[in-house]
Amino acid sequence: PETDMSDLAIASRAVLQPIFEIAESAGIPQDALEAYGRYKAKIDPALLPDRGVKPGKVVLVTGISPTPAGEGKSTVVVGLGDGLAAAGSKTMIALREPSLGPIFGMKGGATGGGYSQVLPMDEINMHFTGDFHAITSANNLLMAILDNHLHRGNALGIDPRRITFKRVLDMNDRALRNIVIGLGGPTEGVPREAGFDITVASEVMAVFCLATGLNDLRARLGRMTIGYTYEKTPVTVDDLGAAGAMTMLLKDAIKPNLVQTMAGTPALIHGGPFANIAHGCNSAIATNMARSLADVVVTEAGFGADLGAEKFMDIKARYAGCDPDAVVIVATIRALKMHGGVAKDALKAENVEAVRSGMANLARHASNIKKFGVQPVIAINRFTEDTDAELAVITGWAAENDIECAVADVWGQGGAGAGDLAAAVMRVIEAPNNFAPLYELARPVEEKILTVVQEIYGGDGVEYSAAAKRMLEQINANGWDGLPVCMAKTQYSFSDDPTLLGAPEGFTVQVRDLIPKTGAGFIVAITGAIMTMPGLPKVPAAMRMDVDENGNAVGLS
Ligand code: ADP
Repeated sequence: PETDMSDLAIASRAVLQPIFEIAESAGIPQDALEAYGRYKAKIDPALLPDRGVKPGKVVLVTGISPTPAGEGKSTVVVGLGDGLAAAGSKTMIALREPSLGPIFGMKGGATGGGYSQVLPMDEINMHFTGDFHAITSANNLLMAILDNHLHRGNALGIDPRRITFKRVLDMNDRALRNIVIGLGGPTEGVPREAGFDITVASEVMAVFCLATGLNDLRARLGRMTIGYTYEKTPVTVDDLGAAGAMTMLLKDAIKPNLVQTMAGTPALIHGGPFANIAHGCNSAIATNMARSLADVVVTEAGFGADLGAEKFMDIKARYAGCDPDAVVIVATIRALKMHGGVAKDALKAENVEAVRSGMANLARHASNIKKFGVQPVIAINRFTEDTDAELAVITGWAAENDIECAVADVWGQGGAGAGDLAAAVMRVIEAPNNFAPLYELARPVEEKILTVVQEIYGGDGVEYSAAAKRMLEQINANGWDGLPVCMAKTQYSFSDDPTLLGAPEGFTVQVRDLIPKTGAGFIVAITGAIMTMPGLPKVPAAMRMDVDENGNAVGLS
């Protein structure tokens, strides 16, 4: 295969199968299929027959702490899925839907890369089947009802200065972070300070992705806290009476979207919450639908294993019952070099010593996974410039430590480059495991946070700001202390300091604030500066995008 083409150029040469054929091969009856064009379809969970077999095994793909060098988790998910399917396993992929913020900002598309992509690439990256539009609308309907409630006399006594919910938009737009609304006089609403978050940071998105069905979705939406009264009692969506209409806006969006990989492996792409202030993986409904259809499900958790994978296991698996049977940690030689102290512009030259010192990051992630009673599998996502001596550092370390490890060339070869990785994954999922979340929900909130900081981050302790301490009292008083914790921490470091790469020690994590997400069902612990409405960089990725003379997308990474 040619490897000098862009992801989009490779994707646009692929020959797609009609989506009804993909559905048929996945065992989905035609009447459960709601086609969106020829290559996308929503699947109605209510119309899937019970296969009468054990649910499929879950392979969770995560990564080392991300660096600007890129790790390629989604690319590995797709390549591994194709590799498992080629080896004869009934396989399904479950991934998040891309957000327009990162697409036009720094990252570009999020549908894999090279010869490991889900298709149709441009449609999945933009608009897709409209789920993000529906989630944005449901969120903003709630806000319209809330501000109307203030305008109509505020019977609930909501303190406009203590409203914690924001409007959302699926765009990186820093100018909307802090705004004043309701200006213009008595007929124009009640003036108050407000702001926008990006759609993927909305609690509605988190709820959408943790709900196990339509009833659970409605109940969770109703439980969301939107702010506090003047007496500081929490106000919920149910108090405002908005949950029914919000659920109605989401009733079709909640059905998972079926697409295909370049090799024709079925993939469900559905929902996509942030991995810092939310739990960072596709919808529980999609994961469980994939498990009901396939023997092996390959899915992804965002950012590094300290964030996405920890939350998959401590939050999602608890609510959705989709315990992982194996955890694949994606690492690249260039990212390990960065963890070993090499600058971004010097990554191409061979540097065995830097790989060796960067291994500390991978080693800590691998031993963390074992704390959940699951075996890690290291996937080295091969780049063309990697040398044998560099690769041998990782494979040698894995052999010494009795950890499964394989080099995968999924970007260059698709599933054919994932043979060893697929075999390693099969060995792990066929062996018994003792999966258990890291902490018990009944423990106090501070203890749950301390457990994550000490066991997963390798830190010494936790300090709370005065605001966080006040919120802790409220959380206990309101009976929310039995929820799991969702750590909002920089993805670049095990610590809360993004500049501490590798495997830092001797640090204390500062909790600035605690935010109860009573609908999603977790307490967010804010450490460091966490952005819920990103901005565009100096030269946005959007600058290279266009359409050609035939109306096809150009420059979408
Ligand atoms: P992640 O899921 O970790 O954010 P992606 O899988 O989206 O990463 O990959 C990010 C980018 O890196 C994509 O444009 C992809 O084409 C590219 N990429 C991934 N793996 C490789 C590789 N082995 N060689 C070259 N480019 C790669």
